[in-house]
Amino acid sequence: MKEGMKIKEIESTTHEKVLLCEDPQSGLEAIIAIHNTRLGNSLGGCRMYPYSSREEALNDVLKLSESMTYKAAIAGLNVGGGKAVIIGHPKNKTPELLRSFGRFVHDLQGEYVTAEDVGTSVNDMTYIAEETPFVCGMGNTENSLGDPSPYTAYGVLQGIRAAVSHKMNRDSLQGIRVSVLGIGHVGYHLCHMLLKEGAQLFIADIVQEKITRFIEEAKKTYSQDVSIQAKTVDELIALDVDVFSPCAMGGILNESTVKKLQAKIVAGAANNQLASNSIDQLLFDKGILYAPDYVINGGGLISVHQEYFNQNVEPNSIFNYVKTIYSSLMNIFELSQQQQKPTAQIANALAESRFSRESVS
Ligand code: NAD
Repeated sequence: MKEGMKIKEIESTTHEKVLLCEDPQSGLEAIIAIHNTRLGNSLGGCRMYPYSSREEALNDVLKLSESMTYKAAIAGLNVGGGKAVIIGHPKNKTPELLRSFGRFVHDLQGEYVTAEDVGTSVNDMTYIAEETPFVCGMGNTENSLGDPSPYTAYGVLQGIRAAVSHKMNRDSLQGIRVSVLGIGHVGYHLCHMLLKEGAQLFIADIVQEKITRFIEEAKKTYSQDVSIQAKTVDELIALDVDVFSPCAMGGILNESTVKKLQAKIVAGAANNQLASNSIDQLLFDKGILYAPDYVINGGGLISVHQEYFNQNVEPNSIFNYVKTIYSSLMNIFELSQQQQKPTAQIANALAESRFSRESVS
């Protein structure tokens, strides 16, 4: 490691390893959290975000890395859960900062493999790759699938289809009213897929420009009478729709938002959608079918896993794997109905039964 770089282990009773990584020269302040490696070395994205404190960043990385363990287990992958956060605004990202992060990742010798996440891009991964081979999800090269977001979006589409079939007894999304919060990497692809399926869209984002751009593009791509309406974030949450699809940041489902929700189904890409564990019971009691976040948004992890560990960069076979999110969610919905328990509790028990087992299957 270069002179001046400091690494400090943060004690944890829940995680295998939590490391504070600092490099004054590049300005890097990052935390790498490895939750559980029972199924294999840990894999998970690196988020860059202007956290207001180190404590806030720590809480986020602990939650995110834990959900990676559950995500990998439920997707049937033999990898563990890990995640990293870089404290700072993405606009202050420099190649040197990313290389410095890469050196810390390299120090772990594969115990943690990194990838892109909110605030980092596939292009950023190429700087990290200058320092370590323990990185995946890079730009479109011969040995890379590029951006994992289309795979995540495709998985969310499968999840919406499963939820609509279970809750509304409908096999088609034609005319289904879907509200999408966040038209970023995943939301953008998901909206296109939903329009192709004939869904009616309602969209919101804190960046108004993304909404205007998407509507203009969709009207050009499909037809003038394609059904999309722009809403404010508050309007969108309270909208009487079939499906609410949160594709922005976590914590969107809390006591106040669940009270306002009129959707029959919540099925979106955002990580850590439940502000606290008890919210799944609130949704269940209100009769809202919730597709657990780490089950429905596993497409990106599946793609980076296939690329990195299986050297599989064949999109069709990856889309086929991602399609299994449909049956995985159907199983969870059916068990939830039979056992009269919230879907998140069912998913947690299924995932835990896999990563807690002594021998890996
Ligand atoms: P992104 O940053 O590209 O998009 C997020 C979008 O949400 C942006 O357009 C942003 O303007 C908007 N946004 C942020 N805060 C908002 C708010 N308070 N209200 C309304 N809009 C807001 O991120 P992404 O890659 O599309 O990921 C979206 C979510 O899905 C994140 O929670 C991410 O962790 C999760 N996820 C992404 C992937 C992936 O493959 N990219 C995989 C699994 C999970």
